[in-house]
Amino acid sequence: MECKPLFKPIHPCYEIQPGLLRLGELARVAVELEDADGSIRHMISLMDGSRSIDELHQELLPTYPYLTLDEVTEAVQTLDELGFLYDHTIDHFVPLDETQRERYRANIRYFMLQSRLSHPPSLSQHKICNAKVTILGSGGFGSSVLANLVGLGVQSVRLVDFDRVDLSNLNRQFLFTEENIGELKVEVAKRFVNRFNSSVEVETLVMEIDSVEVVEKAIAGSDLVVLAADQPFHIIQRWVNKACVKMGIPFIGGGMNLSIGSLFSVIPGETNCVDCNHLYRIRMIPDYEDLMEAGMIRNFISPTATTAANMSMMTGMISSEITRLLTGQGDMQTRNKVIYFNMDTFEKHLVEEIDRDIENCPTCGHGDSSQRIFRILDTEVFQKRGVVPRG
Ligand SMILES: [Zn+2]
Repeated sequence: MECKPLFKPIHPCYEIQPGLLRLGELARVAVELEDADGSIRHMISLMDGSRSIDELHQELLPTYPYLTLDEVTEAVQTLDELGFLYDHTIDHFVPLDETQRERYRANIRYFMLQSRLSHPPSLSQHKICNAKVTILGSGGFGSSVLANLVGLGVQSVRLVDFDRVDLSNLNRQFLFTEENIGELKVEVAKRFVNRFNSSVEVETLVMEIDSVEVVEKAIAGSDLVVLAADQPFHIIQRWVNKACVKMGIPFIGGGMNLSIGSLFSVIPGETNCVDCNHLYRIRMIPDYEDLMEAGMIRNFISPTATTAANMSMMTGMISSEITRLLTGQGDMQTRNKVIYFNMDTFEKHLVEEIDRDIENCPTCGHGDSSQRIFRILDTEVFQKRGVVPRG
């Protein structure tokens, strides 16, 4: 296939003074190029994806007879390195149908920002369309991520929850309405998706997540898991972590505690996992294990205290991470990091930089699961509370 460079339509190209071109507008994207004879501007105007490099050269020759094919090739390479081109030929062969190209036109234009001659923007959309995502929890967090994912173009989602719509959900859970009160959230969410995009496959599982084994059943066959449930606190993260690490499925999670929202991801075999995070905090916080033990025994379940605005900021950031994970474009911000945002100040409150702890982590490494922190989280606390853990 012959490369047919296309100057990305998301970037402007204009002369800011005679012989000086400006490409792009965004900070760090915009560049200025000297173009004394106007040949670069002329060449860019011809780069509509219909001409090979050789054909570009042939069309420029009558006006600029001194231009060589090597110079045109070099100019194309430079514009590609600067991020202004993609290859229309490769893009055209990405298997998306016309409806998908139309429906996701704005997504694809957004993906142009990071695309190159070697990576067409439609490829990112194609990867998203082919992903199978499981969302554990269909409350405020899960239903908001779900709406983002179907807008993004995910064509296969599995929703897991046992809860029913309550009047008190209707400050932030916009997939549900007053007439849905009392209905299963996963069923209402499924109807929302079916109405929004009839080509999306939605599978619903009405189940409570109460062990690693249940998580394994719920996530089988997924490319990505979103943990959008937080009870039992700390424990559910570890169940999902164990299942995902064992099955090699990446997962993204997060939460809200009053004005602080957090997000993190686990990519099995590559990054830190939830248990690595606990080991890191033992090193950073002198009385971490005592605090965790006291907290687990007291079992304080904080009442839901959040607004739609804060919830959508968090789920927006998580969905943005999911986009990078599914497309492979852009750097994931949560790779080896747990990030805490202050929703009132829009600032990062804290960033924990955590490497995978292969030596000590019992889940993604060779560590001992009888370390005190894991005894606290696994069994002791349940015994002290007088219940038997099923995990
Ligand atoms: Zn680990």
